[in-house]
Amino acid sequence: MHIDPFALRELVGPAARTCRRALTGESGVCLPPLVDHHVHLHLIDEQALAGGGIAGVLDLGGDPVSLARRPAGLPHVAYAGAFLTAPGGYPSGRVWAPDAIVRTVSDPSPHPGAPGGAATAVDEQVSFGASVVKVALNAAAGPVLDPATLRAVVRAAHGHGRKVVAHVEGEGMTERALDAGVDVLAHTPFTEDLSPAVVARAAASGQRWISTLRIHDPESARRAEANLAAFVTAGGSVLYGTDLGNGDRPVGVQADELAALDRCGVRGESLIDTLCDPWPATAAEGVSTFVPGAPPTTLDDVPAWLGRATVVPSEELIHDDH
Ligand SMILES: [Zn+2]
Repeated sequence: MHIDPFALRELVGPAARTCRRALTGESGVCLPPLVDHHVHLHLIDEQALAGGGIAGVLDLGGDPVSLARRPAGLPHVAYAGAFLTAPGGYPSGRVWAPDAIVRTVSDPSPHPGAPGGAATAVDEQVSFGASVVKVALNAAAGPVLDPATLRAVVRAAHGHGRKVVAHVEGEGMTERALDAGVDVLAHTPFTEDLSPAVVARAAASGQRWISTLRIHDPESARRAEANLAAFVTAGGSVLYGTDLGNGDRPVGVQADELAALDRCGVRGESLIDTLCDPWPATAAEGVSTFVPGAPPTTLDDVPAWLGRATVVPSEELIHDDH
């Protein structure tokens, strides 16, 4: 099989290199480690992630105590720890959300140890090694943090050098997150068609959106794709993420999520960038992505091609260029 490295770079950018596996002689393309920026490890078979091409994950809602006890290895894990929410707010009481993964915040207090205080909840997650802080703003399913308390959570997180990731759902929640300085949305907004002004403001503020386009009913999926396409056109920054653990899907790279991103205008090299950005951690060391077989020849081929990715030790790959 002949692979033209220049045509490949033209299509998917300089991170892709043609190579072969030393053990099997199989030809293909290697890429940096791929990251799913929205998973819930307690709900999936994480051992299957690497075989499915995912070397790194960001867990956006889990038990901080058990996450802190994880041994190093694959997948390379960064995490938020528990969901921070209003008393009685989402996801409290959900079957998939035991008490260990939820903390309620009832007071904007910046004082360490104040009961129910914003700083108390943030400090706890950071003490367990959280790389980001996750906030639930789901007005469709119960009470949400008021603006002052949300701002206090953001201030406490930023004080520790941590970005805040919000689940926004329901009327006005994207704007509430923007008003408070939330850095990242855990899902592309899917419950309302955002106005061009709100989309432009989100993009201009540097807010990043984690895609999760394939977890919705058809109407919510349509809204999410329209919002993401507008955000991309406005120059917004997108991260690949699937909310793996939500619903029953094979573990690994989700080609249908990539196809949806592609439809929103995140194509080729930009699509690779959403997958290879190690944020908020450093990249997994000593491993690479290997995509066996013929490389894509058109932009339309790229999502399905990436669906064949697997994780291999970097030392097992022989590069065609040097
Ligand atoms: Zn989630």
